[in-house]
Amino acid sequence: MIQFYNTMSRSKEIFKPLKAGEVSIYCCGVTPYNKPHIGNARPFVTWDVIRRYFARIGYKVRYVQNFTDVDDKIIAAANREGVSWSEIADRYIRNYFQVMDALNVQPADVYPKVSETIPDIIAMIETLVEKNFAYRLDNGDVFYSVEADKSYGKLSRRKFEDMQAGARVEIDDRKRHPMDFALWKAAKPGEPAWDSPWGKGRPGWHIECSAMSLKYLGEKFDFHGGGADLIFPHHENEIAQSQCALGDENSFAQYWVHNGFITIDNTKMSKSAGNFFTVEDILRKYPGEVVRFFLVQTHYRSPLDFNEERIKEAQISYGRLKIAYNNLQELVKQIEEDKFLKGKKDPMITLSPAGGLVEGAERLLSAFDDAMNDDFNTALAISYMFELARDVNAYYNDYIAGKILPRGADAYMIMRVSEVFTDMASTIGIFENVEETAADSELVDKLMKIIVDIRQYARKNKNWTVADKIRDDLKAAGIILEDTPQGVKWKQA
Ligand SMILES: [Zn+2]
Repeated sequence: MIQFYNTMSRSKEIFKPLKAGEVSIYCCGVTPYNKPHIGNARPFVTWDVIRRYFARIGYKVRYVQNFTDVDDKIIAAANREGVSWSEIADRYIRNYFQVMDALNVQPADVYPKVSETIPDIIAMIETLVEKNFAYRLDNGDVFYSVEADKSYGKLSRRKFEDMQAGARVEIDDRKRHPMDFALWKAAKPGEPAWDSPWGKGRPGWHIECSAMSLKYLGEKFDFHGGGADLIFPHHENEIAQSQCALGDENSFAQYWVHNGFITIDNTKMSKSAGNFFTVEDILRKYPGEVVRFFLVQTHYRSPLDFNEERIKEAQISYGRLKIAYNNLQELVKQIEEDKFLKGKKDPMITLSPAGGLVEGAERLLSAFDDAMNDDFNTALAISYMFELARDVNAYYNDYIAGKILPRGADAYMIMRVSEVFTDMASTIGIFENVEETAADSELVDKLMKIIVDIRQYARKNKNWTVADKIRDDLKAAGIILEDTPQGVKWKQA
């Protein structure tokens, strides 16, 4: 049973999937106009852990995350640099993926982009206009009418008066109500624009998530996530658009999960305050898994303060778990190779220390899962990893001291302990970038064979330019080709 805090009800609720054994998730993605900062990374790492947990306990997970690739900020950046909006968006989408790879964030099932979802967005706006939830202005702008929607404000629990008091509302006399927001913006010179029933233009921000979730997850899906800063107005507007277009107040996301803010040295992160850290900046100093560990060590709803001291602490903690992980790997390797069978006598084994260890591991795994089942409490779950690490290290030290050998029944138990530790680590998403997997090296071998064959083919045809380019480019990548009697071999320099 999974319980979690639903922002809509402001209480913990038991998760009841729409479809048994499946979970569908929509998380608002980035606007690719600059490099993601540490605060941007938090929702994606949070959801990555939640997804991993659901998958581990047997759910089929579908996860959709968008790119807002048509946006004022992108257009402004493109104009500053004198390049196209799509060049800016492509550049920062690439950067997003690089950073998320370093943080071990598994890819979404779909990454819809605004520029590729225009027909669906237009169709939804048309429905809203037809149903009188939206209106067109003379210039071709289309606005959502908050007053037409009686349940507007239910997520943020704001009344119209509070909204106006709290939000910086642009005075726009053309709007029926100051809180009305743009669904479609009429084209301005030099901006990307698409044909629509209201003339050339582009979508407003909020409508994309309503159209995309409908397209890729259907009228109802389980979870909607994002940073708490998106609750109002973005998520409020998404709910309004989707439920009014679909004519069903139970449609759209069934549950709302929001992660807390990240501060820097207890102040708000901002470029002007000079405390703006991109994930890339941090990755230059700390390994991706350490940064990830730093993020998930704190429960996702709690505020998280980033500072040099705390990330160094996270690095030390991560290192402690890593030692236990390495010790287990070594024990497993010994068991698999069973070196002890060769001409060595068993020392006196008076008790079975692995018996206690495996019992403890099973208990800690169920405690770990209980923590995850209680609002995805990674902070508590990780504390059980430390407990297991301590027991593993004690066993390992006895093994190093020659007091015990992981053989017979103990061998099986150690293998199980290793499985438990790996299950925990893979839920948290650490110890994966430790070394390349067997599948990776097999793929590299296959690719290298193709490259070497192409070079041989070029040489046979006296195409020295191609043959030399392949050799030089490989050399630049740190790979050296050697002619041997068995043919061309390659090695890393
Ligand atoms: Zn969104």
